[in-house]
Amino acid sequence: MRGLIVNKAHFHQIRGGVLNVTGVNFTDTSKEAMATCLRESMRTADCPVCGWRGHVEDLDGSWRVTCPQGCSHEDGRPVGLRPLLHVPYDPDLYAELNVERFELGKTGKLLFSHPEGTNDDRFWATALAVYSITEKRANKPIAIG
Ligand SMILES: [Zn+2]
Repeated sequence: MRGLIVNKAHFHQIRGGVLNVTGVNFTDTSKEAMATCLRESMRTADCPVCGWRGHVEDLDGSWRVTCPQGCSHEDGRPVGLRPLLHVPYDPDLYAELNVERFELGKTGKLLFSHPEGTNDDRFWATALAVYSITEKRANKPIAIG
């Protein structure tokens, strides 16, 4: 078992009391990997009946809410897609998940920022949590909150 993955800045504070802690440096590379993982988990859903898995938006930009394979319940209702990442309704968390900005840096890496006066701590906490659990359990839905 891989254990807990934390921001390396907090690694030494936590390490004394928890087993299997892995520190992660927040570099441009690791932040890009974590943010990409978060984005992919937020736009991916699967069908609980046939196992189809894909992005919730299709190529023309419309949103899928039911199985594209046509799965239906016994009463004929279409089967709804199950989001890979379930985010509970928390207005502050939603705001922080939407505040993060990125641009392509000269190094070819994505550079992340957030407007002055806003916070992105929970964005990165969520990204780190999703990244660490996705690494361990690639095929399971993820819930945060
Ligand atoms: Zn299906």
